[in-house]
Amino acid sequence: MSTIATQFGIKEALTQLGIQEINEGTSTGINNFSSGEILESFSPVDGALIAKVTTTSAADYEKVMQAATEAFKVFRLIPAPKRGEIVRQFGEKLRQNKEALGKLVSYEMGKSLQEGYGEVQEMIDICDFAVGLSRQLHGLTMHSERPNHRMYEQYHPLGVVGIISAFNFPVAVWSWNAALALVCGDVCVWKPSEKTPLCGIACQNILAQVLQENKLPEGISCLITGDYTMGELMTNDGRIPLISATGSTRMGKIVAQTVAARLGKSLLELGGNNAIIVTPDADIKMTVIGAVFGAVGTAGQRCTSTRRLIIHENIYDKVAAALVAAYQQLRIGNPLDENNHVGPLIDADAVEKYNKALERAVAEGGKILVNGDVFSGEDYESGCYVKPAIVEAENSFEIVQCETFAPILYLLKYSGTVENAIAIQNNVVQGLSSAIMTNNLREAELFLSTAGSDCGIANVNIGTSGAEIGGAFGGEKETGGGRESGSDAWKVYMRRQTNTINYGSTLPLAQGIKFDL
Ligand code: NAD
Repeated sequence: MSTIATQFGIKEALTQLGIQEINEGTSTGINNFSSGEILESFSPVDGALIAKVTTTSAADYEKVMQAATEAFKVFRLIPAPKRGEIVRQFGEKLRQNKEALGKLVSYEMGKSLQEGYGEVQEMIDICDFAVGLSRQLHGLTMHSERPNHRMYEQYHPLGVVGIISAFNFPVAVWSWNAALALVCGDVCVWKPSEKTPLCGIACQNILAQVLQENKLPEGISCLITGDYTMGELMTNDGRIPLISATGSTRMGKIVAQTVAARLGKSLLELGGNNAIIVTPDADIKMTVIGAVFGAVGTAGQRCTSTRRLIIHENIYDKVAAALVAAYQQLRIGNPLDENNHVGPLIDADAVEKYNKALERAVAEGGKILVNGDVFSGEDYESGCYVKPAIVEAENSFEIVQCETFAPILYLLKYSGTVENAIAIQNNVVQGLSSAIMTNNLREAELFLSTAGSDCGIANVNIGTSGAEIGGAFGGEKETGGGRESGSDAWKVYMRRQTNTINYGSTLPLAQGIKFDL
């Protein structure tokens, strides 16, 4: 174990979460169905090897799918409130493991410890939500046009739900899907990001314990590890009626086409290019806090990170100066140390993309307001620590139109009315999260109206990141159109059936058709 890992109790956390020591090979899947290649998990915090994982082979995958398919036959027959009880127990276990799992999230992914704990809290919250939901999976009744007939619709479990997740929310995104899918009576096969396999193993161990204690088949929740080729096995697999995929738009386009080709369903949660509009009526103090947290939180590696600030020209200089001053206060370093605000990027590839994006922004005519930099030296051994940057830019720059998964904030100026700002905000291919900072009711309501933001999430006087689980989460356009988590997002995990019952003694046909024999 590295010095940092020892200092912050990572070894103890791994042991608590059932993850074996380095070099022994940590098996994955359900009960040792792992015989694939070795995947090494390095921490972006200090560059140290945390553990080696035996990934899932194609043959292992087949065994996993057979176990999941068999488990579904049992699990779908358990009454929904009883399935809710399983999810309640899972939530309890998460409470007991919050500290250990939060630390692992921080160490393996690189987000701040507080955000690591926050991610586990989100898992607990979605479990609570799902428990209540397990008694509310209701359909509708409607009046039949025929006498002595009753008509209604009901929801049944769908089957095996395939979950493909991204590195940046290595535990919460899975739980958003799994908690809902389980109360709906589905079973889950999860492929976490190859960049955060240990977080996947830890979650799987916790849920497997609950299933074991309740004498339920372990195939109800399965984990497979490996790179995109594992994801491809899932997307091509006709035994998986629903693929929920979270990640880049590039990946989503491939997944969507593959799943559609076999007429399966996909739930896509893809990239964002989120903006905050700052009008002349904005509270500047609130704006600065919202924008800085949105842009540098998780080192700019949230799908909802603030990437663009669209500021009215009358207050532009004032807001820009306040932001530049706030950026000077940021402390960048070990995310397990709660004195730091910003941790590392996930890997060297992400650092290169950050560097290239800054170069590109300048080449396109951008003006740097806060310099970017890559930190070096003893405290930044992984080489993944970068300085959050601010660039004055135009929305039309190619680089501004892209999602760069790093702490780069583009300042864009608008003039005239808020309609002009909304037009800029909507003029990107992504449509995840958006916000307006204003105390002007007309501006706020216009932003939320049909003529306003075209995103899945639109906030007033709140930044773009940090959604609550109670609402449906997701975005439009190239963000993929999926909805997860709260509200009625559960419906995607079930199949809908319309039932008509004739309790009379004749057989009238619909639409008045006569068919007399
Ligand atoms: P990524 O697209 O590189 O990988 C995501 C997952 O997809 C991984 O598990 C990967 O193995 C798998 N994958 C890649 N290619 C695949 C293919 N052809 N078939 C099947 N699976 C495949 O994304 P990342 O770098 O891990 O995550 C960052 C991205 O995720 C950003 O774009 C971010 O905005 C997005 N994201 C979106 C949301 C959301 O809710 N909208 C949430 C988190 C992250």
